[in-house]
Amino acid sequence: MSTDSSRPAPTLAIVVPCYNEEEILAESCAELLQQLNRLEHSGKVARGSKIYLVDDGSRDDTWPLMQKIARRESQVVSVRLSRNKGHQNALHAGLSQTVEEAVVSIDADLQDGAENIEPMVDHYLQGSEVVYGVRSERHTDTFFKRFTAEGYYRVMHKLGVDLVFNHADFRLLSRRALDALLEYPEANLFLRGMVRELGFESSQVEYRRRERTAGESKYPLRRMLSLAWRGITSFSTAPLRAITVLGLVSSALSFAVIAWVLITRLFTDNAVPGWASILLPLLFIGSVQLLCLGVIGEYIAKLFEEVKQRPKYHIDQVVGAETADIEKRE
Ligand code: UDP
Ligand code: MG
Repeated sequence: MSTDSSRPAPTLAIVVPCYNEEEILAESCAELLQQLNRLEHSGKVARGSKIYLVDDGSRDDTWPLMQKIARRESQVVSVRLSRNKGHQNALHAGLSQTVEEAVVSIDADLQDGAENIEPMVDHYLQGSEVVYGVRSERHTDTFFKRFTAEGYYRVMHKLGVDLVFNHADFRLLSRRALDALLEYPEANLFLRGMVRELGFESSQVEYRRRERTAGESKYPLRRMLSLAWRGITSFSTAPLRAITVLGLVSSALSFAVIAWVLITRLFTDNAVPGWASILLPLLFIGSVQLLCLGVIGEYIAKLFEEVKQRPKYHIDQVVGAETADIEKRE
């Protein structure tokens, strides 16, 4: 990568999905505005850059606060979804509303550090279409989260899904990359996998993730598992193939047991004794079949969701933008 800028300073959009973030939003927004102004002053980012706050159907006072901020700050646009649709959808909604030449997505708690946006912009100026924020280590995570995260990246790699290690949804996309991303019609969003699918010239910015300063994590174990499973089933059909292999292995085992029973019966004076030899294979095959049906069911459920082609979300209100020049895509 060359050190001199290869393209002009872009207008920048910072997209922030928020769910019940009243405790942290004002402070985070102030910090982002400060960063944005600094970038504008330094000439790395063009004037007219904006922050897009997306309210993902919060139940607390996030939306009234967002409206207030958007009315006060000319650089802030607040977007409200009609109900809670989850982080990935909220982020997609925000991205779809932007018109700027480069877009950064960051969580409302700014755990990823607003100061890391500047190096991302530097990479953009040097020609990257996608800049991944990558955590240099995971000291803020529990042992359990670190362990499971590592295992997950390994499994995904084995399944042939090429994720960027330790990258979540803190990234910069050029307009070109974002437009390509918005062409993906799927309902089950796993953005970190989809962005990887896009290709384009990419680079990485390493950073240390901070602790959340207020409010609590909106990603309990259940949601994390659900996102992880979505990542697997949206990007790989390997589990279906594994079922075929499992079927082959268990048939081979069954044939071996049948052969053993027949040989014992025909060529020796003994019969294979006991109920265990009947019941155990029965239980084994029964449970393996159920498990396989479950996995197949997961893929059918995914097909069902995709084939309906329902909109991923509905935008209820947009405050703070000259809404006329915003092209709404859902
Ligand atoms: N979030 C969202 N909708 C949800 C859950 C979370 O928009 O249904 C947002 C949340 O406000 C935050 C981001 O997604 O900006 C990441 O959530 P959080 O910081 O709680 O996750 P963690 O950092 O613990 O993984
Ligand atoms: Mg967080």
